[in-house]
Amino acid sequence: MRPAAERGAAGPQVATATSPAELRAVAERAVANLLEQVGAASGTVLNLIDGEWRPAASGATFETFSPVDRTVLAAVASSDAADVDVAARSSQRAFEKWRRLPANERKSLLMGLADLIERDAEEIALLEVIDAGQPLRFMRQAAKRGAENFRFFAERAASARDGLALPTDQQLNYTGRKPIGPVGVITPWNTPFMLATWKIAPALAAGCTVVHKPAEWAPLSAVKLARLALEAGLPAGVLNLVNGLGESAGKALTEHPAIKAIAFVGESVTGSRIMAQGAATLKRIHFELGGKNPVVVFDDADLQRALDATLFMIYSLNGERCTAGSRVLLQRGIYDEFTDGLAARAQRIKVGDPFDPYTEVGPLIHPEHLAKVTDYLERGQREGARLVTGGRADDLGGGYVRPTLFTGANRDMSIAKEEIFGPVLVAMPFEDEAEALAIANDVDYGLAAYLWTSDVARAHRFARELDAGMVWVNSQNVRHLPTPFGGMKASGIGRDGGDYSFDFYMETQNVAIALGEHAIPKLGA
Ligand code: NAD
Repeated sequence: MRPAAERGAAGPQVATATSPAELRAVAERAVANLLEQVGAASGTVLNLIDGEWRPAASGATFETFSPVDRTVLAAVASSDAADVDVAARSSQRAFEKWRRLPANERKSLLMGLADLIERDAEEIALLEVIDAGQPLRFMRQAAKRGAENFRFFAERAASARDGLALPTDQQLNYTGRKPIGPVGVITPWNTPFMLATWKIAPALAAGCTVVHKPAEWAPLSAVKLARLALEAGLPAGVLNLVNGLGESAGKALTEHPAIKAIAFVGESVTGSRIMAQGAATLKRIHFELGGKNPVVVFDDADLQRALDATLFMIYSLNGERCTAGSRVLLQRGIYDEFTDGLAARAQRIKVGDPFDPYTEVGPLIHPEHLAKVTDYLERGQREGARLVTGGRADDLGGGYVRPTLFTGANRDMSIAKEEIFGPVLVAMPFEDEAEALAIANDVDYGLAAYLWTSDVARAHRFARELDAGMVWVNSQNVRHLPTPFGGMKASGIGRDGGDYSFDFYMETQNVAIALGEHAIPKLGA
């Protein structure tokens, strides 16, 4: 058998494994292969800095567990400011060459990386399942979406620098864009691979270099991405990977003077910390933060489709999803029927082993997160809401929460205002449009909103009034990559997607050229 380093993917078993146990075994082999590929004889997940796999300078490590059964998957380099400094300086050196590489060459390298992601998509999906606990049925799509992200932005690498011509009678002004420099990308654990590619692909296509700090609770797919970047031939230092905890490695990255911008996805409270940490070096920041997204259903809607979409948007991805529709606002006349329908279907959702391709809800990522979600289940009941279905599923093992529905809630309850980030839906009735809007906007967040109505005028009117960066009407969250993605209020600063991403990773420059001899004031003449 060829050595793992040459095999690339977890091997031919990937295609043939079908039972959850077989898939789990393949995932375990994928972890072992990954460790072997990155040259870690010690079984430690290393950093990739300047094209070399290295432990943290201090030798420190932390462990990553599988949410499926809490077994330790690997020890991971626990980096600090010293490692970040080496990585940032490497990215700075690499930037000078990468930015000058003809855009078409950057494009073909990134297209090559997309092909490798596609090649190993099943393996990437299995790494996400074992490390993040997300069900395989969704992770297969997410891995492919990672390749799509690279292709989409690589295709636009050349046009990213294009600008405008803004002539006057006397001067020709033209604008162009240049990559801002080395950037830090800090990502969360909920769909780690897809989210990392969503940030890293546009940055690299724009001509920036990247230091990536993945989430400590699910770091493995980031190692896979860095490994594939090397295989695709990206020059050393173009994508550096620094593993570590947020408060050490993450913080150091946000404070490093060579890092010109921070693209961050995570909790709102972490966003404020990063803003403070980056102030001294005047970091440009882009934040994709939390959400408490409303699903507003009027009585004239297609109720069956609204029901399907509501269930999908809260219970898929274990509810660990920034765009989860976690509050459903129902017009009074349909409230009972709709909540009955939600409860009946929620009870039939398949909860269990995320390696089972039929599983719809898997385990929550970590005991700390389970404790947070459990606390909301208790608080909701203490506050007077009714837990109609769901709750902890300790019979399935440690980390499961069944699809949960609260009724009888009101907008002042913590379960109706705060992000739970688990499979917990809170239903509230409303009388009319004005009340629906008041409830929908009465939270600190403003990421996404979902609106169900067959009244076209109301759809436009209501969408315009919603404080949300993204509004889907009669639709679940369907992404179109050129459209802006991001939130208002505590849900974020800035937008991703299409040209919005390039605007963040690039500086706009204006050049003004005199077309003749315009008057120049003659001081001291
Ligand atoms: P988190 O904020 O705890 O951690 C995210 C990342 O930030 C991790 O890599 C962590 O190590 C790092 N970090 C923590 N403290 C830091 C610091 N002081 N300086 C620098 N980096 C630091 O978030 P999480 O629990 O991993 O993820 C869940 C959150 O992410 C939820 O709130 C969810 O809504 C949000 N999210 C938002 C989007 C979006 O697009 N808006 C997408 C996915 C997840």
